[in-house]
Amino acid sequence: MNYDCLIIGGGISGLTCGIRCQSAGLSTAILSAGMSALHFSSGSIDLIGYDRARRIVHSPFEYLKEFTGAMPDHPYAHCGVDTVREALVFLRDTLKAEELEIYDNGERNHFHVTGMGTLKPTYFSQRSVFNDSIRQAFERRAKIAVLNFEGYRDFYPELAISNLLKNELFKNVEIVTGRLVFPDYGDPEKNPFEYRSIDIARIFDTIQYLDEIAEQIKREAGDAEFVAMPAFIGINNYKKHHQILQMLTGKLIYEIPTLPPSILGMRLDDALKSRFADLGGVLIAGDKVMGGDFLDGVLDHVHTQNYGTTRLRARAFVLSTGSFFSGGLVSDSGGMREPVLNLRMSATSPRNTWYSPQFLDRKGHPFFEFGVETTGKLNPFDAEGKVIENMFCTGAILAHYNPIGEGSGGGVAVSTGYYAANQIIKACGK
Ligand SMILES: Cc1cc2nc3c(=O)[nH]c(=O)nc-3n(C[C@H](O)[C@H](O)[C@H](O)COP(=O)(O)OP(=O)(O)OC[C@H]3O[C@@H](n4cnc5c(N)ncnc54)[C@H](O)[C@@H]3O)c2cc1C
Repeated sequence: MNYDCLIIGGGISGLTCGIRCQSAGLSTAILSAGMSALHFSSGSIDLIGYDRARRIVHSPFEYLKEFTGAMPDHPYAHCGVDTVREALVFLRDTLKAEELEIYDNGERNHFHVTGMGTLKPTYFSQRSVFNDSIRQAFERRAKIAVLNFEGYRDFYPELAISNLLKNELFKNVEIVTGRLVFPDYGDPEKNPFEYRSIDIARIFDTIQYLDEIAEQIKREAGDAEFVAMPAFIGINNYKKHHQILQMLTGKLIYEIPTLPPSILGMRLDDALKSRFADLGGVLIAGDKVMGGDFLDGVLDHVHTQNYGTTRLRARAFVLSTGSFFSGGLVSDSGGMREPVLNLRMSATSPRNTWYSPQFLDRKGHPFFEFGVETTGKLNPFDAEGKVIENMFCTGAILAHYNPIGEGSGGGVAVSTGYYAANQIIKACGK
């Protein structure tokens, strides 16, 4: 099997890279072991939400100019601010081609509400999570109804409301709560359905209950103009069904990201995979790259769990296997390592300094910044310290950034995937 470009890892970084390569005419394959961080994420793309003193960044591109100057090893500094901007536009247009409409606030970040009722700065959100009508409703302090389905255990409206009311932005806003019940589903405690977001999303994907649910929303929300519900209004038909619900109720309906599985993240995952397949890319799911062999200083092929002795060759390889969460990096009593090719990692401090004593430290843990070391072009180094010219590392596997502390996870993944693709396209003469 021989490709122009073989990408290992099908998270948002590998998918962005694959779509860019395939759309430029390169024969591209993405091989991915399992679910990506998207299934656990908020589904919004954070660009840079906090500065180094943990203050909120409102104008991310303006801030990035100063930030990348001060942080030359940061992945954004490798990409350059113009490429970061281009990458995000590319992602937005790609999703639009799959009918997934993304809201951005121009040059500025916006906030999305978390399931806990806190506000998080982000750059891109799905339109059911943020849009201009929602912003205007917030600004005129419209009454809000936070609703939940009976039996759904991953969201507590009262908790979200009490946290929202602590925020200055929600001062003097009237927020009420209410509950919805799925028709025909009986007592949720006795129902074989687990009532996770995925179960509810599947029900929303059928049109069958929309009229009845719209009636319940109207009754429970009363005169609230604005209804917030956990994000489970479908995966495949959510856009149409969200619009129908808004029309039937005459209210703005806002989705709040939920605990995993994240329906908002799954919509992104579906849209990107579908775009890659539409362009003719090869997606090999459920297989794991176990290692590879070098020839004349470059990576010649990789081998996988399922293909056994079959070698997968490519002119360029991209390693987008994620961080510890997805198995792109592993740690054990001997330290940390990159398991596929034993690539050089950034210096890792003694084990007792990997973690912050506080589990939910707002700055994140020191280990978040550990990862694979690369050149400015994102080429990694082999175990002997030699640069691997035909290989690129992208996304959460990279060292020198803190996705949580900075609020930059999605942005770095998209930008580095796009930046690597640009270089591969150039190297392949396209
Ligand atoms: C729980 C969680 C929530 C987050 N929430 C947000 C958020 O709300 N907004 C935001 O902007 N960022 C968020 N982030 C950060 C951001 O989502 C991630 O940084 C980004 O999605 C990483 O994408 P990736 O493609 O680099 O890696 P991943 O999404 O981790 O994907 C890596 C893929 O590689 C596969 N893989 C691993 N090893 C192999 C192998 N040997 N062979 C083949 N495949 C392999 C994995 O199965 C996985 O599918 C979150 C991260 C986590 C972990």
